[in-house]
Order: sequence, then C-alpha cells, then structure tokens
Amino acid sequence: MSTPHNDVFADALKRLDLAAQYAKVDPETLLRLRQPKQFLEVSIPVRMDNGSLRIFTGYRCKYDDTRGPAKGGIRFHQDVTPSEVKALAFWMTFKCAVAGLPFGGGKGGVIVNPFELSMAERERLSRGYIRAIAWAIGTDVDVPAPDVNTNGLIMAWMADEYSNVVGRREPGVITGKPVAMGGSLGRDDATARGGFFILKELEVKLGWDNKKQARRIAVQGFGNAGENFARLAHADGYQVVGVSDSNGALYNAAGLDIAAMLKAEHKPGLLPDPSLCGAGTKKITNAELLELDVDMLVPAAVENVITEENANRIKAKVILELANGPVTVQADGMLERRGVMVIPDILANSGGVTVSYFEWTQNKMGFYWTAEEVRERLALYMRREFSAVFDLAKKHGIGMRIGAYAHALERLGPALESTGTAKRYAKE
Ligand code: GLU
Repeated sequence: MSTPHNDVFADALKRLDLAAQYAKVDPETLLRLRQPKQFLEVSIPVRMDNGSLRIFTGYRCKYDDTRGPAKGGIRFHQDVTPSEVKALAFWMTFKCAVAGLPFGGGKGGVIVNPFELSMAERERLSRGYIRAIAWAIGTDVDVPAPDVNTNGLIMAWMADEYSNVVGRREPGVITGKPVAMGGSLGRDDATARGGFFILKELEVKLGWDNKKQARRIAVQGFGNAGENFARLAHADGYQVVGVSDSNGALYNAAGLDIAAMLKAEHKPGLLPDPSLCGAGTKKITNAELLELDVDMLVPAAVENVITEENANRIKAKVILELANGPVTVQADGMLERRGVMVIPDILANSGGVTVSYFEWTQNKMGFYWTAEEVRERLALYMRREFSAVFDLAKKHGIGMRIGAYAHALERLGPALESTGTAKRYAKE
C-alpha cells in the first residue's frame, strides 16, 4: 500500500525512465505515458443493513487505451488511494503490452474493508460502484475484472448491474465472471498457473531438478494467487516451506502439506490451524517468512513488502512477483546488486489478464473453449513472453524488470507513435 514516504505512482514512473534507455521510443511517447488518460473519483451511497446511509469513495482509472480497450481489476481495500490506483493502472498498461494482448491499462478501487460488510451490503456497494462508473466502461472501452478482495461473485453482481443500466446483456464488459454467467474455464487459477508456467521455464534456465534436489519455496499471501501457486508447486515436487496470510505465517522445514491445508477448513485468504498443515509446522512472523532461506520467494499479496528496509536480508535466489508492485524501486537496485533474480509482476502475474483476454474473446464470439484449450493457450503466451523478456534482458545485461518494461515499450511505442508525433510534422 502507499505510505506518505513512498508515493507508489511516482515510483512506478521511475521504471519507465530506466527502461526507456533500452527501447527505441519517441520522447513524446514517454511524455504521454507519464499520466493517465482519465481518472474518475465517484461517491457511492450505500444503504446499510441497520438502515443508516454510508457514502463510500471509489476510483476508476483509464490509463491508456491506444492498443485496445483499457483492462484491469477492481480492488476493495481500506488503504486504496488515488496514487495506488494510478500505479496499478500504469502497471496494467505495461502488463497487457508485455503479454501481447490487444488491451490498454486500467484499474479501479473502492476504499472499504469488505470483511466488515455483510454480503447484502457488499452486493449493494458493488452494484452502486458500477452504476457510478457505467458510463465510463464498456466491452470496447474499459473492461474491469477481479483484484484484491473481489471475486467471481462480485463480478457477477457488477456485470448484472451493468446490463440493468444499459438495457442489454453485455458479458464482455467484465471478466473473471462465474462460468455460469459467461466466464471462462481456467480463469479462477489463471494468475497462479501463468506464474507456474514461468517457474517451469526458469527450471530449465537455472538447471533446477526436484528429483535430484527438492527446491524450497516461500509464498507470501494465501489469497487466490498464493493459494493456487502453492498447490501447483507442491503437486510438482517443490517443497513449499512457508506460507503467510495477513495475520502471520507458517513454516515447516520439511515442506508444508499444502494438499491437506487446502482440504482443511479455512476462511478465504486465511491459513488453517498449524496442526492441520503437516507435522512440525510452526508459526513465524510475516517478516521472517520473507527472509527465509529458500530458492524462490513468491510475494502474492499487496504492494511494497520488499523495501530498502529488508532487501538486504532476503535470502531467496529468485523472486517471482505474483502480487502487483511487491518490490519497491529502491529495493530493486539492492536485490540486483546481490544477484537476486526478480521476475517482475507485469510478466509473472500476467496469466490472470491473459485468461481475462480469452474470456473477453469468447464473450465476443459467443463460442466457448474447453479448460484444456485455455490452459494450452495460456502456456503459449507465458512461454513466448518469458523468453522474449529473458533474451532482451540478457542482450542488454539488465534485470528482468527493466527488460520487461523495455519489451512492453517496444509494443507501446509504435502504437502511440502511429497516432502522431512532432517528428512527422517536422518532415513537412
Ligand atoms: N487484477 C488482475 C491483475 O492485476 C487481473 C486483471 C484483469 O484480468 O483484467 O492483473
């Protein structure tokens, strides 16, 4: 989350400047990419169960839509700020470009702790938010999706409310919907699966072989991305030695029994009791989890968890960012100097928006794919873009983060430039 001494949007722009050196882009393109095309603030009156009225504040940012409709999730969180929403929308712009999807970038958020609301209040808030921004979104305009603390059910309410406003069914206006309502098979675990496909590519590059030596992974966050990633890695022979939720973390030197943990009763996003997670499991703090001696650390929760405060204590060899913005720009340099490889969010977690793109395509066609088709196509996209970024980073001797931004700029640049730059006028 953004804190007063750390303006998350200002930090996001610093990476643009760093990457610009490695991509052929017109200075005017960079100028245009420094601010969002549109930023809305709305107030959402919600009748609470006790009869009182509460006014919530929501945002929707259409950062850029040159390569296609804006695309990006909606989060419900008490720490949402305009700067954070802009940063997230900026990252979506680059994520869609890295992944080669025909989308721009957007993001939305509502300042609320949804867990303090009843289900009925959450539904009224979700519908109220969509009524407030309905005029600014659309299948070919800006397409929301789930993000932190929002899910398929909330997308279903939102898509239904949008249909009420416009007077027709328009399933492609929102992705991440339940399958019964036009969602795509495979969207629910797409973020984690995309990250897992990257892990399989990395294995080859790094010579990891779990049969010879089981590699150790720590996962920060037990929401949709963290939980599914832990499941896929565990099933593939990795030792998932640590996982955390917002209250704390669990550690087991021999590897947690992730399969048992997923079967055990637990609230969404929260860990089960340690006694259900494998013999010898003990409680540790969130800070200790980040600093575990592991082969790979997977931050899968919120922004700014690896900062200049703890970067030098991170022992992982590789960081795979399933969350958006978990490593600050200051920490980036410190990790790079110590040889820690960071697979950046805009590449590592692009599986979610890639399957959102598949959902949007299926909605437009009215023709639906099998789970295998979705998975195979996702693998294709993840492998293709991972190797493009890996090769580009190698060619310039830079980290994967700036490599990914440069790769995105190679797609964003020609698109923005084809709409006109001063160079063209100078030729006349
Ligand atoms: N919220 C997800 C992300 O940050 C998914 C966005 C989408 O599917 O549009 O990538």
